[in-house]
Order: sequence, then C-alpha cells, then structure tokens
Amino acid sequence: MTDPISSHRDGDVLVVVSNNPPVNALGQAVRAGLKREIEAGLADDAVKAMVIRCDGRTFFAGADITEFGKPPQGPGLGEVLDAMEASDKPVVAAIHGTALGGGCEVALACHYRVAVPSAKLGLPEVKLGLIPGAAGTQRLPRLVGAEAALPIVVGGDPISAKKAQAIGLVDALIGEDSLEADAVAFARSKIGQPVPRASEGTANQDGVKNPAIFDEFRHKQARKIRGFDAPNAGIEAVKAAGELPFAEGVKKERELFMKLMTGTQSAAMRHYFFAERAANKIDDVPADTPLIPIKKVGVIGAGTMGGGISMNFLSAGIPVTILEMQQDALDRGTGTIRKNYENTAKRGRMTAEQVEGAMGLLTGTLAYEDLADCDLVIEAVYENMDVKKQVFAKLDEVVKQGAILASNTSYLNVDEIATATKRPGYVLGLHFFSPANVMKLLEIVRGEKTRDDVLATSMALAKKIGKVAAVSGVCPGFIGNRMLSPRQQQAQALIMEGANYWDIDDVLLEFGFPMGPFQMGDLAGTDIGWHRDPTKIETIRDALCAKGRFGQKAGKGYYDYDEARNRTPSEETKAIIAEFAAKEGKPQREIGKDEIRERLLYPMVNEGAKILDEKMAQRASDIDVVWINGYGWPLYTGGPMFWAQTIGLDTVVSGLEKHGLPVSDYLRERAKAGGFG
Ligand code: NAD
Repeated sequence: MTDPISSHRDGDVLVVVSNNPPVNALGQAVRAGLKREIEAGLADDAVKAMVIRCDGRTFFAGADITEFGKPPQGPGLGEVLDAMEASDKPVVAAIHGTALGGGCEVALACHYRVAVPSAKLGLPEVKLGLIPGAAGTQRLPRLVGAEAALPIVVGGDPISAKKAQAIGLVDALIGEDSLEADAVAFARSKIGQPVPRASEGTANQDGVKNPAIFDEFRHKQARKIRGFDAPNAGIEAVKAAGELPFAEGVKKERELFMKLMTGTQSAAMRHYFFAERAANKIDDVPADTPLIPIKKVGVIGAGTMGGGISMNFLSAGIPVTILEMQQDALDRGTGTIRKNYENTAKRGRMTAEQVEGAMGLLTGTLAYEDLADCDLVIEAVYENMDVKKQVFAKLDEVVKQGAILASNTSYLNVDEIATATKRPGYVLGLHFFSPANVMKLLEIVRGEKTRDDVLATSMALAKKIGKVAAVSGVCPGFIGNRMLSPRQQQAQALIMEGANYWDIDDVLLEFGFPMGPFQMGDLAGTDIGWHRDPTKIETIRDALCAKGRFGQKAGKGYYDYDEARNRTPSEETKAIIAEFAAKEGKPQREIGKDEIRERLLYPMVNEGAKILDEKMAQRASDIDVVWINGYGWPLYTGGPMFWAQTIGLDTVVSGLEKHGLPVSDYLRERAKAGGFG
C-alpha cells in the first residue's frame, strides 16, 4: 500500500498532503503519516510554518468507519492532534469539500483554518449515536462559544464555510482554484507570531456566564432528540468544556464517548447507516443496468397521495401531469398542492419564486391522452382492484411504449394489476407513505415480470426525489403494512381482553414510536371509511362514530381532548370497549406493559421472519429501513429485525410461545443460528 500522506516544501512552508481516496478518511496510515510529517516539520529549522491539505474531492471527511469496533491501532487521532496543536510553528488547515467529524477535529487542532467558499464543516458523530472522540467537543466551544457549538455537536448538520467564518471556526476564505497557494500565503503571514490554540480559547465562558443556554437548547430540541442518548451526551460535553480545564474536559468527553461507543444505540445507528446503503442494491440487478430517462411524470388521482406524490417530482424540477375524473376533484387536488407549497413558503423554507416555479411544472388534466408522452405514470386512485385494472388498461392504450407504469397500492397484488396491460415488464409498485411529500420511505414493489431497467430507474429516481428506497416482493401489504397488520391485531385483541388502550399507546411511545395506534386513529379521524350509519354498530369504531367521537378534530375520539389537543383517557370509550368485550364473552383481566410490549412487537418480528423466508425482502436490514423510515420505528434500536437480534431471537420465540402466539419455522431456525445473518 502506498503511503497516503506526503509533503513538499514551498519555501519556508511545509505542505502536508493527504491522498486517501475516496474521502480521505482518517485511517491508521493517515494518522501515522500526519504525525510523522508534523514531527519532521518541527525538527526542520528551515520550516517555519505548515499547511495541511487533502487531494481529491474533499478534506478529511471523518473517521474510517470500517475501523469501528475493531481493536484500535496507534497512533490515536487524539494523540496526533495534540502533537499538531502543541507545535509552536503555525499549522494551517486548508479545507475544501467537507471537514466532518475527525476531519473537523483535525482542523480544530490546527492553529488556523482557511477554507474555500464551497466547503462545509461539521461534527456529525451524533448521527451514528456518538459524540466526537478527539477533543472536538472541547476545542470547538473554546473557539466559537458554547452557544454556537451546541447545534454543531448536538444537531450534527454541517455548516457552510461562510457560516463557519461568521462564528470564528474559519479564519479566512480562500480561492476555490488557488487553495494551496492561498493557504501557504496565509501561513507565511503568521510566521513569528504566537500560535493561537483552540484548547486555550476562552469563548466557552458564554456558557458559564449563562448556564441557562444548555437547558433552553435541550428544551428546543426535545422532540427531535427524545430517546436518543448521544445528543444529551453532546450537551453534557459542551457544558463540561466551560466547567473543566481542557485535559479534564477531554477525559470527560472520552468517558461519554466510550459509553456511547459500547452501548446499543450507536451499534443500532451504525447498523442503520450500512442498512440504508445496502437497501439501495438489488442483488440480481447489475449495477450498470442502463436507466430510462424520466423527463415527465404522470399521476392518476389528485387525492391525498396523488397530490403528495406529485410534489416530490415538482420539487425536483420534473414536470408532472396530474389526472382526475372530474374538474372539481382536479381543482381541489391542485389547490391543495399550491396551499402546501405556500405554507412552506410562509415558514420561510421556500421563496415565492420557488412556489411559482414548482406550480409552473404542474399540469392538470381530465384526458388520458395528455399522459401519452410521460416516461413514468404513477397511479394513486381508490384502493380497488377493478378500478386499478381499468386505469392500467387505459394507460396501456395511451402511454408510449417504454414508459414505466407504477401503482401506489398499499395492499393489492401488483402482478394482477400488471395483467391489465400488454407490458407487465414495465409495471411495478411505487409505494409512497403519507404525507407523500414528507415521508422518506419509498417501497419499490417488484412484480414477477418487472424488468431490471425499470427497477434500476426507480431506485435512481427515489434518490433524486430524496427518498430512502427498499425493495419488496409482491405479497399483501408488502413489507411495511404486512408487518403492521399483526401489531394492529394484537392491539385490538389486547383491549378486548382488558388492556387499557392508553397503555398500548404509551408502551409504543415509551419504546420510541412517535405515536400509538389509538392516538393515530384520533389524529387521522376515526370516521375515515366509516359507513355513516349511526344505527349500524358492528365495531368499536362504529360505536365511537355513532357518538360523534370522530377524533382530534371533534375534540373526542378514543381520547378526550382539551383545547391544546392534550389527550386524556375517556370513560365513555372505556365503557364502549367493555360493552363490546362483554358481547363477545371475552373475560377481562389486568394486562401489564411488559405483556403489551411483547404482544405488539414480537409478532412483527415473526412476520418479518416470514417475509425473509418467502424472499419478499432481500435482507433483514431492508426491513429495518422500511420500518424506520415509514412507520416511526425508533432509529436508536436499529429497526425491528436488528432490535430482535439485540434482545435475542430466542427471547422473541419464547415470548411468542408464552403468549400463545404463532412462531414461524424460519424464526425458530434463525434463533438457533443466533441471528438473521
Ligand atoms: P384518495 O381517496 O384521497 O384519492 C383518490 C383520488 O383518486 C380521488 O381524488 C379520486 O377522485 C381519484 N380517482 C378515483 N378513481 C379514479 C380514476 N379512475 N381516474 C382518475 N382519478 C380517480 O385516496 P388516497 O389516500 O390518495 O389513496 C390512493 C391510493 O394510495 C390507494 O391505492 C391507497 O391504498 C394508496 N395509499 C394510501 C395511503 C394513505 O395513507 N392515504 C398511503 C399509501 C398508499
């Protein structure tokens, strides 16, 4: 292996260069090379200053994630950085691309940082359930203040070079095309001056003078960081930077870091990091499959889903023609799209021109002929096989050959839908989630005859519109809804056996879901799909609707709501449920939260195992990707399949047995093997 670190001289400045494609990750050879070059620069009297820069597309973009979990190989990054900062010859980081994580920590240990305007800096460790581990949480607040450091350490999103300059993280902006020359000139201008060290900075005193900033920050982020360990550790570390001397602060950071590194959350989040990338690969579709250009999209149905689906493409600059049966439905649909964009603009996340730009790409129509030249048409009409088949037969007649015909169906058989056309190879499911312009997940449903280029194009398109895609085979409900179904069944069974419905919601909330099924029912409206006959009472839902308990919008549903929409359990609902249970002769008993949790979640794992056994999912981690992005499964547990392995598949099997629930042979087999593999 060639040495990734080299150096050359520009007069009295030593330029240290990293060349470790693709992202100059800070692997062992890079760390050792940096240390060696810094020591050489210090030992050479002719060298008066040093510049550190990277070849290729970016500055050090972080740690070498493949080294995670392996025995550490010296020198550690902290040791290299301490040596760098201790230098009394000025060391300048010259940044292009991204300086992330360890890369940002390298920059912080340099005495100065110069960056090209397109560069970004950040500490994204929190996104892997960690905090920076090479003194980043200690140097950054000393350099820019605790208040400016908090969002960087705890939020994990990178900031622009300009913003970095404004907060004092970057000393000067330099030319995009003259990085080395400008950095060398900058370094030369600092020769002979005492070097400023971030570890000796005092900007962190803002947090000591006004310690309330930490709680305020925590409070503001409460929803986003609920359940996650790393953000709280990040806040603690930044706070410690104000309270402790540098060396002790670094020790504190180390303790917090090690606790996270050895904990389950970071393992789960690192699993997810790889899972999302793996989900992008379809095992038997070659990576070089030619893609079908998608320049114009058609959407059938301007309802809840059709509108949201259209927005994805409009926002990505792809023209959309949306079709409805009646003018008023079309007007309502396009009106909703406009209103959504305008609301985004009101919140400052879009300009008025951008709204008009997106709307300018939208055409409404009642005529199928207007879809003739679309490269992709997505159907989002009622969930009814006959209606869907009629739509696909019509599409087959009018839409040009070679176009992709997709259904947004939630449960229906995509292979059967494809039989309505003479081109089943071009048919697949593109299952978006509601609200379709917001939810990250796209389930790509692969029909028996779906062509490779149709799949590969859909994958690429998902990326283009900012979705996380996972492939599912054709089965009722695909991956996501199929696994939701046993959970819903158990929720229903549990309340009939005497469990409190609010306990069910609370169990899921405590597990980390944003909401439980009964809260969800109230939010969506209990009257969705209701037959509207208050005398016909066959389900608990019918009884709720008959009493006007339509959900949040009515101030009462499963729960009673106050004006701020805070929920409290309802006596009336309890009585309705008890009456139903009595009618069905179900004996009532008290049911604790452990049983509730096991009965809600273990059957999902069992269903997931069946999905794997039937090869409806390519890999267990794809199932995790679906549930984290489509259903609010907490990221910090890694998804249902990873979580099941964390608690042990044998625990899941024995739990299912204990509750008299079915256990698939495949789950038993995998439990014996010790995991999904
Ligand atoms: P919706 O009732 O809000 O919208 C359906 C729209 O399709 C209506 O505006 C209707 O006028 C129109 N339509 C019906 N038949 C048509 C036809 N023959 N030609 C043209 N337009 C027609 O329904 P939705 O919630 O948007 O659901 C649409 C599809 O998306 C369903 O298959 C559903 O299962 C699926 N889906 C829904 C959700 C969800 O949460 N709502 C999530 C994922 C998938």
